Amino acid sequence: MVLKIAGGSVHIINLPKKVIVGSNILKRIDGVIYELGLGSRIATLTGPNVKKLVSEDLVNYLGAKGFDVELLIVPSPQLDDVKLLEDTVRRFRPSVILGLGGGKVIDAAKYIALSLNVDFISAPTAASHDGVASPFVSLRGTGRVTSVKAKPPIAIIADLDVIASAPRRLLSAGAGDLLGKFTAVLDWRLAHRLKGEYYGEYAASLSLLSAKHVINFSDVISRGGIEAVRIVMEGLISSSTAMCIAGSTRPASGSEHLFSHALDVIANYPALHGEQVALGTIMMSYLHGRNWKRIRRIARKLGLPTTAKEIGVRDTDIIKALTTAHRIRPERYTILGESGLTWRAAEEVAKLTEVIN
Ligand SMILES: [Zn+2]
Repeated sequence: MVLKIAGGSVHIINLPKKVIVGSNILKRIDGVIYELGLGSRIATLTGPNVKKLVSEDLVNYLGAKGFDVELLIVPSPQLDDVKLLEDTVRRFRPSVILGLGGGKVIDAAKYIALSLNVDFISAPTAASHDGVASPFVSLRGTGRVTSVKAKPPIAIIADLDVIASAPRRLLSAGAGDLLGKFTAVLDWRLAHRLKGEYYGEYAASLSLLSAKHVINFSDVISRGGIEAVRIVMEGLISSSTAMCIAGSTRPASGSEHLFSHALDVIANYPALHGEQVALGTIMMSYLHGRNWKRIRRIARKLGLPTTAKEIGVRDTDIIKALTTAHRIRPERYTILGESGLTWRAAEEVAKLTEVIN
């Protein structure tokens, strides 16, 4: 924890204590748990799609090292399911919770760790969005589609071999989530200038860097493999760190995220988070007067959808999402303004950027 005292205000920053990114490192978890003094009872949460080989092998390994390990499956990202699971985890009385899975599993583990006030280790098996390392959690069925504040993971163990074996679509989505930082930071600056909102240059630069990283290495990312995973994973961790420093999702989430959340409400989570965010980034870059064609070119290169059709929604869903996005989180000022886009303006943006016909 770092105390930053500027102009009389106190700014508290919580960061992960240990971040390990590399090949074949999953079995360093016992060392990390020991080093950080996290006790011996590990509730390991994993997803139905995580390869049994990975989770069972790790549980057996930790068991052989003398830990008490309970392996539990997160059935869905729905709040009701996660709450049921929370009861089981509570009965086990874990000293630490390990989230071994994709974004949804990590979110569930983070939520339960927050409820039980237990430390949480993130071991992502996919690099699909920056929730794998951030201090914010989002679940479905909470009555809101945006995220709530939690603690950051005490440690992040990103095994590149494991992540590289996840479907390519998830990696592209992770890169798409990072592209969104361009417009997120532009929105943040706008809110600072127009509304006097707190703005942290360091957090903004760090977040922006993760988006630039995706652009600079888009060739490598589009080829897939270990190097691609490393680049995206480092970007996701960097963007999460920006959120830790700012103490909010501001550096990582602006109008492009509001659009994605609105689309989730309108079309019931039609595509992956990062895919929707990338689509939103194209249109919000246009509204900001930036080089949206470049964003679209990169998105295409990364294999991301760039039209309504490609993410499986109707043209009118896109327009509806554009006109209602500003209401998702009214206190978050963005390029969409306080009253949002009119239907006509929204239709024009979506047509001009060729998201719809
Ligand atoms: Zn995101």
